[in-house]
Amino acid sequence: MGLKVCKFGGTSMADGNIILAGAKIIKSDAERRYVVVSAPGKRFGGDIKVTDLLYKCSDAYEKGDKLTFEETFKKIRIRFLNIEAEIGRTFGMDEMLDEVKAEILNGAGEDYCASRGEYLAARIMAEVLEIPFVDATEFVRFDKDGALDEITFELGKKVLSKYERAVIPGFYGLGFDGKVKTFSRGGGDISGSIVARSMMATLYENWTDVSGFYACDPRIVNSPKLIEELSYQELRELSYMGANVLHSESIFPVRSAGIPIRICNTFRPDDAGTYIVKTSTRDVRANVVTGVAGKKDFTIISLEKSMMNAEVGFVAKVLDVIGKRGISFEHLPSGIDTMSLVIDNAHLKDGVLAEIVEEMRQAVHPDKIYTHENIALVAAVGYGMVRNVGTSARLFKAISEAGINVVMIDQGSSELNIIVGVENEDCGACINAIYREFFN
Ligand code: ASP
Repeated sequence: MGLKVCKFGGTSMADGNIILAGAKIIKSDAERRYVVVSAPGKRFGGDIKVTDLLYKCSDAYEKGDKLTFEETFKKIRIRFLNIEAEIGRTFGMDEMLDEVKAEILNGAGEDYCASRGEYLAARIMAEVLEIPFVDATEFVRFDKDGALDEITFELGKKVLSKYERAVIPGFYGLGFDGKVKTFSRGGGDISGSIVARSMMATLYENWTDVSGFYACDPRIVNSPKLIEELSYQELRELSYMGANVLHSESIFPVRSAGIPIRICNTFRPDDAGTYIVKTSTRDVRANVVTGVAGKKDFTIISLEKSMMNAEVGFVAKVLDVIGKRGISFEHLPSGIDTMSLVIDNAHLKDGVLAEIVEEMRQAVHPDKIYTHENIALVAAVGYGMVRNVGTSARLFKAISEAGINVVMIDQGSSELNIIVGVENEDCGACINAIYREFFN
């Protein structure tokens, strides 16, 4: 018999009725033994996620803004009391929220505060399913650099094997300092993946509010094609580029063990969904591009110098300038006498860009150094791309026929993607142009 780990995201935990629908899904399959949950998310457009309310509480506490703290905490309390009312049972939410409030006022910290949405949601789901609650701090561990500690999988197996079934809160674990520590936003997906790997699940089901992974963001392209199957690497590339169905780091725990992920829709549980597997069985001749995604707000710093190729240590010196400031780069396209660095605008605010350019000038004395701000990166991703002659020609023809100027080109060395840099305002049109060429 197989073993499935199910992760229910924020919209699948948003109110009591949806939680009951999720419980029904879990109970309908005896293989669904370990359940990871997110905090209640948005119930409707304009609603606020519990996690966002918790961050607001923590911020208000830090600033000593008592009024905002009280008002926001009240909203959180109402969310959980409403869930109890919708389910028609009490789970001790009022008392648990009193404890949470006391801890926050005791200085428990931002991560503790932010993690409580998952904690309380998991307590509810465990009661509804009548199975044990196991806290994530019992096995999800971070190392001194804040990265996931490998011991997590061993501990996870040890702790979870004691239970036939269990509910675990997503999004957090125990930091190196012994305090609650969260993953980055949307990190409940990583928690689900950790549980799947710890228990060597046969399938990791990620229950959300869409019926799978689409070839493009439906907010950008009208009714895009659903991808039935894609590889871990294709998923990583697409989610990194802004396709936000799954957290881009969530494949790492399951990848080495080859555990497939299935994206499923809590609101349409009979839909087939999307399978994410080690090696896709899709016909690469028929499916040239698997998906197209884009991300805005990057800056390109380009350097030119004659004989750059022969100058030992040139790139290292340039990278040292940003490395010293703790700034990472996203891409590094280069030629014989040119190199460019693509950096997220978030790192370059408040005059940092000008300082970096000056430091690079001093470090390597380029013939020319120039910047291009407000760039969007658009990636076409798919194993079929290198296996089909003429793919880049088709891609660039489609972009140019749409009247879009390409500022930068980067063909990934994985031969899995072609990334183009365009002006921010051309991002949507560029995605549409590539989609029309390869999917219509
Ligand atoms: N609740 C967290 C967030 O909103 C984590 C998650 O939902 O996965 O980011």
